[in-house]
Amino acid sequence: MKSITRFDLQYAHRFYGFRGEAQYLHGHTGTLTIEVEDGINQGVNMVFPCNEIKKTAWAILQNFDHATILREDDPLLPVILEVYEKQGIKNGAPQNTMKGEAFKTDLAVAYPDSRIVVTKETMTVEGMIKIVYDLLKDKLNIAKITFKSGDNTASEEYNITKTIDRCPLCGIALTSEGICTKCGYRKN
Ligand SMILES: [Zn+2]
Ligand SMILES: [Zn+2]
Repeated sequence: MKSITRFDLQYAHRFYGFRGEAQYLHGHTGTLTIEVEDGINQGVNMVFPCNEIKKTAWAILQNFDHATILREDDPLLPVILEVYEKQGIKNGAPQNTMKGEAFKTDLAVAYPDSRIVVTKETMTVEGMIKIVYDLLKDKLNIAKITFKSGDNTASEEYNITKTIDRCPLCGIALTSEGICTKCGYRKN
């Protein structure tokens, strides 16, 4: 069975080098749906608590919210950074508080202090799905990701090969020692 969680992300991007309106910087509210699959945890009668999926994923996905997402070779990138630098907001601002954990993968690098994500490939809906799966695959048993932005929607399904041991009292993933970090439950 699956637990399905949705996130709204507001961001600006453009398709650098693309012949169409999308080559101009513009913004979206994108909707990301993550489907987590596992057996039903008998203790709590759920696959995984959706608020815990939200917490786990949002810690990272927050980097895409109110962010400017540009490809690494986009000449807009150094220009924006220069403006932020001059304005004194490149390395953060007192109002820039809703920040995610910085990350760096082969596909994307997040700079939460300047709310910029630099991507290797153009950030299409397909590109976003690849980035998100790569970031979350070790934390959640992801069976499917759907991303909708403007008129574009893409989805990808993944084979679930493992089951995650979860707390029978609150449903969250146990540590490798079989301990629940939320309620203190111990497996053995
Ligand atoms: Zn767009
Ligand atoms: Zn627990």
